[in-house]
Amino acid sequence: NVFKEGLAKTRTAFVEKVEELILRRKKIDEEFYEELEEILIGADVGVMTVMELIDDLRAEVKKRKIEDAADLQPILSEKLVALLKGDNEAELKMASSGTTVILFVGVNGVGKTTTIGKLAHKFKSEGKSVLLAAGDTFRAGAIEQLEVWGSRVGVEVVKQQAGSDPAAVMFDAVQAAKQRGVDVLLCDTAGRLQNKSNLMDELNKIFRVIRREMPDAPHEVLMVLDATTGQNALSQAKLFGEKSGVTGLVLTKLDGTAKGGIVIAIRNELDLPVKLVGLGEKMEDLQQFDSEQFVHALFA
Ligand code: GDP
Repeated sequence: NVFKEGLAKTRTAFVEKVEELILRRKKIDEEFYEELEEILIGADVGVMTVMELIDDLRAEVKKRKIEDAADLQPILSEKLVALLKGDNEAELKMASSGTTVILFVGVNGVGKTTTIGKLAHKFKSEGKSVLLAAGDTFRAGAIEQLEVWGSRVGVEVVKQQAGSDPAAVMFDAVQAAKQRGVDVLLCDTAGRLQNKSNLMDELNKIFRVIRREMPDAPHEVLMVLDATTGQNALSQAKLFGEKSGVTGLVLTKLDGTAKGGIVIAIRNELDLPVKLVGLGEKMEDLQQFDSEQFVHALFA
């Protein structure tokens, strides 16, 4: 299971406590539910989601006439899988022909550049040709940092100088991708998340430039979130994610945190799929999200 190692901290903070609770209390009663609630909130599942989950569990326990706490664990994992699955696809949308264009947005430090580098590596190892666009012309060092990843992975970076118009960089990148018949174009953006209208303005301009050249692009707009920030990641996604053209989420640094429960809160409170998760700093440490495997990694 690809998630197992990366989720070790979350497993300790969450599942091991649930297991301990089940062994200790044995029976499902009010105190049991209260303690379970505390554990889930402690793992950053989020108050609203915890309440819903506990209500769901109560109903199921009643329906199936369960008294033994040990019988609750499979029901809990069942509920979590259903919740994480939701009704939208975790798979990345790819162009049916021509170049697939994926834009990345996210505040500084969340792991945007790293994710682009890892994804470039993943596509390349699948035999696809990849091009990177240094669309974050705003943050000092962003272009160089992307170039470091470019040379590490062995893919070219389309860039202009710092401070230039990101839409112009995108134009160059889309032209180059078309000319060379590139399979995947991964675009960094400054994605200014200081406020929503900045983000929308910048993205709209980039959308226009890309669509003029490739009418069905961008195929994905991924918002990158740092899982170690727990509830903050959820607020960021709520504030900027919906209605700004974002099509999916990437949750990074799940390996470094006990707050993996945030994935559950995000899935429950937002109508945006988690597409990818970052499970380490290395090139290989990026996985497509899979709800069943994720839950199994927690409970295995
Ligand atoms: P950006 O400012 O959003 O482009 O963020 P960076 O890509 O520069 O990442 C910021 C820091 O987070 C770097 O030190 C990365 O190595 C680290 N990082 C990114 N993704 C992951 C991850 O999945 N796990 C861990 N442990 N660290 C990560």
